Amino acid sequence: MKAEIIAVGSELLLGQISNTNARFISSQLAELGIDVYYQTVVGDNANRLVDSIKIAEDRADLIIFTGGLGPTKDDLTKETIARHLGEKLVMDAHALNYIEKFFKRMNRVMTENNKKQAFVIEGCTVLENKQGMAPGMLLTNEKHSYILLPGPPKEMEPMFQLEAKPLLAKLLHKETVIISQVIRFYGIGEAELETKVQDLLENQTNPTLAPLAADGEVTLRLTAKTESETEAWIKIDELQTEILNRVGKFVYGFNNDSLASKLHEILIDNNLTISAAESMTAGLFQSELAAIPGMSEALVGGMITYTEDIKVQQLGVRQEVISEFGVVSKECAEEMAFRIKEKFGTNIGVGITGVAGPDQHGGQPTGTVWIGIAFGQLAPISYKLSLSGMRNTNRLRAVKFTIHYLIR
Ligand code: ATP
Ligand code: MG
Repeated sequence: MKAEIIAVGSELLLGQISNTNARFISSQLAELGIDVYYQTVVGDNANRLVDSIKIAEDRADLIIFTGGLGPTKDDLTKETIARHLGEKLVMDAHALNYIEKFFKRMNRVMTENNKKQAFVIEGCTVLENKQGMAPGMLLTNEKHSYILLPGPPKEMEPMFQLEAKPLLAKLLHKETVIISQVIRFYGIGEAELETKVQDLLENQTNPTLAPLAADGEVTLRLTAKTESETEAWIKIDELQTEILNRVGKFVYGFNNDSLASKLHEILIDNNLTISAAESMTAGLFQSELAAIPGMSEALVGGMITYTEDIKVQQLGVRQEVISEFGVVSKECAEEMAFRIKEKFGTNIGVGITGVAGPDQHGGQPTGTVWIGIAFGQLAPISYKLSLSGMRNTNRLRAVKFTIHYLIR
């Protein structure tokens, strides 16, 4: 099934609001395995709306409208579609009923104008609006299905999920099973990953393979559509094995895993505690860990040792280490890791020191980061990063790389 989304509203064209509805509907349709080929935006103008409908009818089976279902003069979506399809608008008792209820709930008096909202296109299935008044509609004829949804996201989203989605699933009627698996990578760039799986990206149709890059991480989504779940998993498994053979060493997790949740899992499984002394990240590392429920069993605490004095006086980094090597150095990072581990009595100590930017610091260029890791009685180890982002991107990357090194 090919779908097109038509967002109706002049404020979209004027740049006053973003078309978040199209994004939401697209992602919902993707879950159903319905391909969205086009997203259109058209103003509150009947002629141009009809033009858009005609174009959409040529290239889509399912057309989903959002916006312009309200009671005011500029709201003309249902009227225009009704006219275009040669259908009448009729009063719907069910819609009237919940509009009346809505007014009671809001303690407001219903006007005649509001009653107009209970008019729907004859022959449609009414989609209840639990958050507002304008009912949504689903219409099907031999060639097309049309879904009309209101503009306000807080009305549109629940209506789509609760009312339209189950109907669409039925409409798809073939019992297709869609299964997705996300593979999560760290330490490899999007371009490099794509090169390594280029042939798979190009030739793969079922499962489909889609790369995505965000926050320094890259993911591959594998989506299989088949008649049975087992068959889908077999297909996913085959492709996944091939991918893992090629780039498995960069994989840190799957689906909803995050670097921090992975670290949490490892710490808990091995009964390990951790502490951190943070300079350039100033607590961001610990904050990232603390986002994972249950982290208190592993994360003991830490220090923000931003200045040189605090590193020496409070954390106990030796002055001569800093004098000889500087604060942004392998030696300082390792000593920070070691000192915090000893001070907080944890199994693992982490030290992060670097130059977030925009200016260089102590002769070190922007983006230079040293990550020290002290583990038990072993000699501390460290990693150097040369990051190229803006200040806060560098800080976040430093945190993610730290977690990455810890889980490797
Ligand atoms: P109402 O009954 O509130 O008039 P409506 O169905 O007539 O609803 P519109 O008048 O087109 O919808 O839009 C109402 C509001 O909904 C807009 O001011 C905007 O805040 C939001 N909205 C409309 N379309 C979109 C969209 N495509 N993406 C995000 N928000 C939207
Ligand atoms: Mg409106």
